Amino acid sequence: MNTNASHGIRINGVSKVFAGLHRPAVDDVSLDIAPGEFMTFLGPSGSGKTTTLSMIAGFVPLTSGSICIDGKDISRLKPHKRDLGVVFQQYALFPHLTAAKNVAFPLQQRSVPKPEIETRVRDALELVGLSDFADRLPRQLSGGQQQRVALARAVVYQPRALLMDEPLGALDRKLRDQLRREIARMHRELGMTFLFVTHDQEEALTLSDRIAVFNNGRVEQVGTPDELYERPSTLFVAQFLGESN
Ligand code: ADP
Repeated sequence: MNTNASHGIRINGVSKVFAGLHRPAVDDVSLDIAPGEFMTFLGPSGSGKTTTLSMIAGFVPLTSGSICIDGKDISRLKPHKRDLGVVFQQYALFPHLTAAKNVAFPLQQRSVPKPEIETRVRDALELVGLSDFADRLPRQLSGGQQQRVALARAVVYQPRALLMDEPLGALDRKLRDQLRREIARMHRELGMTFLFVTHDQEEALTLSDRIAVFNNGRVEQVGTPDELYERPSTLFVAQFLGESN
């Protein structure tokens, strides 16, 4: 599958204050995600990871700060104008459409010509190892296979980056390990910028080029898995990375 050149994401002093909460859900976060990088937001529940991802995706408006892709401010664009693929914990496939038709959907919405849709859907299903399952409905697929359809659908229109929020969270241990390897392989093959949200240290340490550790709406430390493991800059980072699930 061909992809466009990789794209970098810059998060500049971004905050989010939800009405009724006495402290910001996200508090002055700045981060640079390099083109083609596998970046993970790691932290405990409630630390602001999903809210930050949702602001990048355009589902949650920023209270302050800005988000740029390739130097252009996208903070005020509608989600579909940002050209980002998004996958959540729950697969959100259309239940009445086959795997192939689910993957074709974003291309039809973008009025891609039919023969090109067929090629791209075939390539995307091959990328996630589901070539033989194109005609199955979601309910005829396992949880792991459904999530792979969701991944294929998210990358089929060659977005500028793939954003994943706990994509392995609903799966049992064995499927989770399998899909984790698939995601690592997709990243190698596509060379696309990947942003991954998890509370699971092992997932973060095995998948990521760099990890941003979130705590109380702030980023405590950003670094490679080795850097964080060997030189944690705060007690929180040391303790959180040392815990196992
Ligand atoms: P994480 O992804 O790390 O679990 P979240 O970004 O989901 O954390 O949440 C950060 C904080 O913001 C939490 O205190 C959460 O309860 C709060 N929050 C998230 N979404 C909303 C919302 N729509 N309205 C009010 N508070 C929210």
